[in-house]
Amino acid sequence: MDENQAIMMVDLVKQYHRLESEIDAAMKQVLHQGNFIQGKEVRLFERELAAYMGNSAEVIGCGNGTDALQLAFMALDLPKNAEVILPAFTYAALAEVVLLLGLKPVFVDVDRNTYLIDCALIERAITVNTKVIAVVHLFGQMANMDAVMGIAKKHNLYVVEDAAQAIGSYYSGEMVSGFAGSIGDVGTTSFFPSKNLGCYGDGGAVFTKNKDLAKKIASLANHGQNTKYYHEWVGINSRLDTLQAAILRVKLQHLQLFTETRQNRANVYRQGLQNLVEAGHIFLPELAANSTHVFHQFTLQLTAGEKREALRKFLLDNGIPSMVYYPLPLHHQNAYRQDVELPVSEGLCESVLSLPICPELSIENQQRIIEKMQLFFAGN
Ligand SMILES: *Cc1c(COP(=O)(O)O)cnc(C)c1O
Repeated sequence: MDENQAIMMVDLVKQYHRLESEIDAAMKQVLHQGNFIQGKEVRLFERELAAYMGNSAEVIGCGNGTDALQLAFMALDLPKNAEVILPAFTYAALAEVVLLLGLKPVFVDVDRNTYLIDCALIERAITVNTKVIAVVHLFGQMANMDAVMGIAKKHNLYVVEDAAQAIGSYYSGEMVSGFAGSIGDVGTTSFFPSKNLGCYGDGGAVFTKNKDLAKKIASLANHGQNTKYYHEWVGINSRLDTLQAAILRVKLQHLQLFTETRQNRANVYRQGLQNLVEAGHIFLPELAANSTHVFHQFTLQLTAGEKREALRKFLLDNGIPSMVYYPLPLHHQNAYRQDVELPVSEGLCESVLSLPICPELSIENQQRIIEKMQLFFAGN
């Protein structure tokens, strides 16, 4: 049966069918209770995710992962034009929020092998106006948090962790340890349907160990109210809704298994594509030191980036989707353009390719992908 099943980057319907009875029951319960905003499932989910995360991180649900970042920066109450150091090779949400709040993004290059912020470059980007180092745990593994936390401490900076792609990833360093999002001053994640822990619409969460900050973030997410109709801060309306929370409670129970399946699929790719590495056609993603990898994406690099479009077309002609995360670095985007050279980020945008790696990808279909990759490079 799997032989005939279409290959997809993410297969949310197949995943739903695996969890159908649990999800249906959870949703039905919410429908019968009628508390669609801030129903009890929201608090329960926040508590369960906090228990999963450990590190005494509090969890505040919100509308989506971009709002989570916005709430994190709003809560830190930074002076106008404060500088935020962030990687140039990532999804745009972080830069967008920084600029929307009147802060200044300072783009730093990433490591070619792990795709994560290059910590050796952070210190020289620090000025008297720097207030925050924002790291992104891109594709599912964590930035060098020992280095980041050390630099932040030395220069008295905040650390914000964008863990939208890395929920469940664990860092175990010499100085600091914990799940993605639980180590810095504030962490954020997204429950966008295709994320490793996804709901059936938009959703997100903010993490912090600081109780006062947690209270402020919860208030900011609800119009800056502490008591209904009494507004302490200028906030926003960004709440995780009850139905999504109920769905996430079910899926959180399966997150570990989903993660292990992703890790297994990554190993299968690694073995099946190793000869292409040896032949000089591709690089495979390298594991970052001290971090587990939850493989939100399996992102390889072509040695000859100019073959990428031909490879994508060849795969697609064989029913295999692939994606380019990301085609343009943030400092080259029209919206955030800066005249800086960040050669690694620029090079990666020309050479990266992500293959399907969702937990619903069958081994048979994965073997088909590996076979077609082999076939392409045999002729190219
Ligand atoms: C998905 C994602 C976001 C934004 O999440 P939304 O829920 O879509 O707003 C932010 N940062 C990264 C790295 C992401 O992958």
